[in-house]
Amino acid sequence: MFADDVVLLSPSRHCLEASMRKVSEYLTKLEMEVGASKCGVTVFHGCIDKVRRRQWQLQGKDIPVVEEYRYLGIDLNCNLDEGFTVRRQIQRYRQKLHMATPFLRNGRIPMDLRLRVVKSCLLPSLIWVSEWWGMHQLHAKRLSLVLNQTLRMVVGVHMKHTGVSIPALYTEFGIPSVESLIAGRRARLWAKGPSMRTWISQLCQWIPTFRKGTWVKNTKAWLLRRLGSSAVREIERSPRGSKTLQPEVQQVIHQKWLTTGKMTQTNTWQEYCQYALHNGSALLRDSSLHFPEHSKSLSWLMRIRVGGWSSCSRLARIGILDEQWKTRCPCCLVNVPETLSHLQQKRSVIMRSRIAAAHPRDQTIANKYS
Ligand SMILES: [Zn+2]
Repeated sequence: MFADDVVLLSPSRHCLEASMRKVSEYLTKLEMEVGASKCGVTVFHGCIDKVRRRQWQLQGKDIPVVEEYRYLGIDLNCNLDEGFTVRRQIQRYRQKLHMATPFLRNGRIPMDLRLRVVKSCLLPSLIWVSEWWGMHQLHAKRLSLVLNQTLRMVVGVHMKHTGVSIPALYTEFGIPSVESLIAGRRARLWAKGPSMRTWISQLCQWIPTFRKGTWVKNTKAWLLRRLGSSAVREIERSPRGSKTLQPEVQQVIHQKWLTTGKMTQTNTWQEYCQYALHNGSALLRDSSLHFPEHSKSLSWLMRIRVGGWSSCSRLARIGILDEQWKTRCPCCLVNVPETLSHLQQKRSVIMRSRIAAAHPRDQTIANKYS
């Protein structure tokens, strides 16, 4: 029972009929009425046709037999398929994202404000019930794809812009990778479950021995692989282990993602690390809130930092500009590709020459840029 929602779990149809009779009596006694159209009867890993042949009633009203049911915002099908739940979750997330798009794309709203909406409204709905299927790489990948699209929107580039470095984007926004977030949540429930005062503690303690892989066994095996046996033993011994376990798992997986992931091979990310740009990310986010009048410029600054700008060498690589600009800078006409580091080095020289041309006598301004 959760608030005014009731779930009846039974091993056989006779048990279910008996439970439904009891619930009917209980509701009638309390002068409550059941919303029959919102209810559903289903069978997990069984024959749904057999269930369909029978009549199911609560307080004399027919209860429909369903193959899918949504409970507490979780879509379940009769095979208890994780993939189905994740797909549905992504579908619903996309609807929310569609509604939030004008807000997320609006460059005049401070970036930090838009980011807070992502962190507090969109992200939790995406990783809702990830305790169930966290630590699963394929699901993490699917969820990451939609979150990447959301973050690209916030930074002001196309949803599928390929030049943006994803690790840089997450670092700039201070968001851990989806893989680490969902793994952390599952680890937390695994550590907390046995001491909870609900039926979850029984589920965690009474593990079926006839099944090779269960949720509890798989979680432990995963933790042993990632954290090592001594760390896991420590968690099992101390009941408060769950509090520190979640951030710890999150940290380990996120670090691994930042150092060995497939997306760390890009030039943008390597440049980002080389110049230690992560040191300024929090300052940039704060500035967008303190100087809302400059939010557009600050968005551009972040866009450049994560690779969301098109240099001439990139435009030449994708065939928009002539081949020669792959290795040549159109600004100073030397045989150096136009990259962020080149722009930073040359900026002072170019500024000085421009100022010298505009104010030939005023050497003090020109020196300021040298
Ligand atoms: Zn140049």
